Amino acid sequence: MGRTARRHRRNDPGACAVSVRTIAFIGLGVMGAPMAANLVRAGFDVVGYNRSAGKREALVDAGGRAAPSVAEAVAGADAVVTMLPDSPDVEAVVLGEDGALAHMRPGALLIDMSTIRPDVARSLAEAGEARGVPVLDAPVSGGEQGAVEAKLSIMVGGEPEAFALAEPVLDALGATVVHVGAAGAGQTVKASNQLIVAGVIELVSEALVFLDAHGVDRERAVRVLAGGLAGSTVLDRKAASMLARDFAPGFRVDLHHKDLGIVTAAAREAGVAIPLGALTATLMGALSAQGHGSLDHSALLLQVEKLSGREAEASA
Ligand code: NAD
Repeated sequence: MGRTARRHRRNDPGACAVSVRTIAFIGLGVMGAPMAANLVRAGFDVVGYNRSAGKREALVDAGGRAAPSVAEAVAGADAVVTMLPDSPDVEAVVLGEDGALAHMRPGALLIDMSTIRPDVARSLAEAGEARGVPVLDAPVSGGEQGAVEAKLSIMVGGEPEAFALAEPVLDALGATVVHVGAAGAGQTVKASNQLIVAGVIELVSEALVFLDAHGVDRERAVRVLAGGLAGSTVLDRKAASMLARDFAPGFRVDLHHKDLGIVTAAAREAGVAIPLGALTATLMGALSAQGHGSLDHSALLLQVEKLSGREAEASA
């Protein structure tokens, strides 16, 4: 990690953006915990903070350090990574009175890897710029398995110079790391990822109910479908658990409902019609409203069964 120290050219010409050694990691949940552990494994000095103390202890067991507050976690860090549920959580942790930006040293890097609104990502970048802290939005795809195996797909928005500094950190977390554009672009790409994934899950659900209604052996059907143009990562990773009616998350319905809210708002803002996406967003929202928010998003199958009057048959 021995990169040459570089001068940060924006608001604090005296501050040096040095290569990253110490990383503060805020948000040690389903995704954050294995990601922080992978950074420890890659040789970084990782200081973690999560609201609940138990999750901090897990990082210590993995070889990291625990901090009692955001302020203390970020004070000595070269980079701060946030992996929090939603836009208001990231705004509170980053912009709050005792938040990350108030305590980071100028020139240190802020990498938000949560899935949040693109406009919020842009406003975080502006707030960072005012304090001499380059900010990247770097949301991920690949789920818990991708986080554990350090094989995430990471889509990054922000300044090229900040991306270059962040690359060793991101390479320790993902297999596909792409700088997709300016601040907010990473979140825009992530929104399109969530649009595609939700739509494909919905169509796989419809196909499974359709096959069942016609009395076809669905396991055999899935095997042959996966080898043709209908094949997809969703079919490969989700069809078996959907057929087994195992909806343990994985990726929770409530998180995907949040993401489809981001997609529909951003599409409306840009004047883009997303008829299938909007319909899928409604079905995902209904699933949440019916009390299924903590199930895996593949539980969209339940909606199709319900709409088709086939709940009893498919559950038997
Ligand atoms: P999670 O709810 O498991 O983890 C979030 C963690 O943040 C929790 O441990 C929570 O205690 C902590 N937290 C919340 N507010 C905090 C605060 N103010 N200060 C400190 N800690 C706080 O969620 P997750 O599944 O890890 O997802 C995190 C982000 O990654 C979300 O934006 C999600 O949409 C995205 N994501 C998740 C997956 C997945 O498969 N789970 C995949 C890709 C992207």
